[in-house]
Amino acid sequence: MADTPARFAPGATIGILGGGQLGRMTALAAAPLGYRCHIFCPDAESPATQVCDRATIAAYDDGDALRRFADSVDLVTYEFENVPADTASVLQDRVLLRPRPDILAICQDRLREKATLNDLGIATAPYAEARTAEELARALERLGRPAVLKSVRMGYDGKGQVAIARDTDPAAAWAEMAGSIPGAVGIVEGWVPFEREISVVVARGAEGAMVTYDPGENLHTNHILHRTTAPARIPETTAETARITARRVAEGLDLVGVMGVEMFVTSEGTVLVNELAPRPHNSGHWTIDGCPVSQFEQHVRSVAGLPLGSAERHSNAVMTNLLGEEVHGWRTVLAEPRARLHLYGKQTVKPGRKMGHVTRLFPRTAW
Ligand code: AMP
Repeated sequence: MADTPARFAPGATIGILGGGQLGRMTALAAAPLGYRCHIFCPDAESPATQVCDRATIAAYDDGDALRRFADSVDLVTYEFENVPADTASVLQDRVLLRPRPDILAICQDRLREKATLNDLGIATAPYAEARTAEELARALERLGRPAVLKSVRMGYDGKGQVAIARDTDPAAAWAEMAGSIPGAVGIVEGWVPFEREISVVVARGAEGAMVTYDPGENLHTNHILHRTTAPARIPETTAETARITARRVAEGLDLVGVMGVEMFVTSEGTVLVNELAPRPHNSGHWTIDGCPVSQFEQHVRSVAGLPLGSAERHSNAVMTNLLGEEVHGWRTVLAEPRARLHLYGKQTVKPGRKMGHVTRLFPRTAW
């Protein structure tokens, strides 16, 4: 179904594909605006189903369940970008899907993502495609070392990624990346000697209006986001470049919704885009407590065709993910007067699992 500037007044039902914490926080943001949320996900014990009006528990390839879901909601959005293409296509035949599914297809494929960005005139790490160990070796001759080999599809939190140092054997790197993935296609990226990793959350409304949040600075541990500090400790000119870059991506993709744009900043202040996530982003959780309108409310406003709200940061914020057993520290967090605790209601604690987050607020400064 083509995207038109359709508007859905409060009272409408928003369908959300995916039942994780992003769906939960989106549903929580939709409620005060008077929307109902209907979650579609395979797991009855998911964070989002605990806070929604309705849930359909079914597999993403269950055509009948998808069709019933589509017919019971006014529009559909999603909280993860690896929505299978067939799922999107079944839904799209019956209901408006925002952001558009072709944006999903771009963000599911690191090669298409980089090519699309470069076509928009946006800088990324230099890259090449590799389908065999020999192609990898040739790509490394061109791109130099160090480099990173990534699986083109289904990679997240560092999965399917191999760092290539001066002495890494391409055949071994290929086997490590591709060994467990049948028909794996790789992307080789030149190593970016970044000084900081930042991200910008951009929201774009159905009629093209945009807002961007201040760039957050991201610290990863074991490839999983550990902490986002907002604002990032970068000069204002670099922050403005980052915001403009995110807006160019959103406009170039004709996005309706919220997108997280992950970037590298080099010591010279060059901004390179690493990855796109066409949904609310973990590095934007600080906006719930640090801004008048959070990324989740902005997402609801965008997909529902409402005017966007202010993304201005009223406080400095440090958002820390509570991973695995760290969730048991909730009592200590609650004892801190300026800490805001967000738990996701997950029943099973696993190492590295995102169980919740805490945002600590500080007076607004440029740090
Ligand atoms: P990604 O899954 O692409 O977000 O990569 C995970 C992490 O690996 C990033 O957050 C960076 O810390 C690091 N990384 C990925 N690609 C590169 C690159 N081309 N150069 C340097 N570091 C990278």
